[in-house]
Amino acid sequence: MAARSLLICMAMQGEADPIIRALDMRSVPWAFDPHLPFRAFSGRRNGANVTVTVSGIDPRHGVDNIGTQPAALQAYLSIQAFKPDMVISAGTCGGLEGRGFRIGEVVASSGEFLYHDRIVPIPGFEAYGRGHYPAADTEHLARDLGLRTGAVASGNALETSARDLEFFDRHDVAAKEMEAASVAWVCWMLDLPLYALKSITDFIDHPASTAEQFDRNFSAACANLCETVVRAVNWLTHAPA
Ligand code: SAH
Repeated sequence: MAARSLLICMAMQGEADPIIRALDMRSVPWAFDPHLPFRAFSGRRNGANVTVTVSGIDPRHGVDNIGTQPAALQAYLSIQAFKPDMVISAGTCGGLEGRGFRIGEVVASSGEFLYHDRIVPIPGFEAYGRGHYPAADTEHLARDLGLRTGAVASGNALETSARDLEFFDRHDVAAKEMEAASVAWVCWMLDLPLYALKSITDFIDHPASTAEQFDRNFSAACANLCETVVRAVNWLTHAPA
């Protein structure tokens, strides 16, 4: 069934700007408590409402509110405000050169969303820490859009440790980023389907500095992300024949 209302949760304004322009979206000033930094932009596509929300700027540090903590609150309030029937977590990520991924390649989530840095080796809390929130089925979407799929893992560091790499191997993780598992927790509680589209800005299994790779590849990765998100929105808002 075609989606009637889609919500795209994003962290950085720079990641969202090409999508907001491509989908001809307008700012929605009433969406959030004015004390909060989150911002919303909405438009129409094939008769559906499509909204992008971003985490906004931290006024003390002048940078985007990246990471899992803003992502959870933003997702909950965005869902309350826009009542979507499907949610997409879109943004950039670290990828694995050793598994044949490319810089600027957009990966779709499959399987589950995990936290890779919530390590609590106490019975019960171990699996709780990892999250294991379900990802919506992307098999047909990924096939039609030509995307590779894998688990998406979130944590609160841009840097990657040897322990993280081992975790990604064990859990078949294709994308490392900082928000999706928190959006997945909220969607799981509210029984809403979620998948992620993440464009690779940097290789985490490469000796080059992640921050340098991120800066160098950011605009090209965001351009590819925009193209894929627009195609996914078209795909999701078209009722099957
Ligand atoms: N240097 C950037 C900071 C970006 S932090 C700046 O100037 O603002 C990384 C953001 O991109 C997060 O929102 C995260 O989801 C995503 N990301 C991209 N590559 C990542 C990686 N290797 N590890 C973790 N997050 C990554």
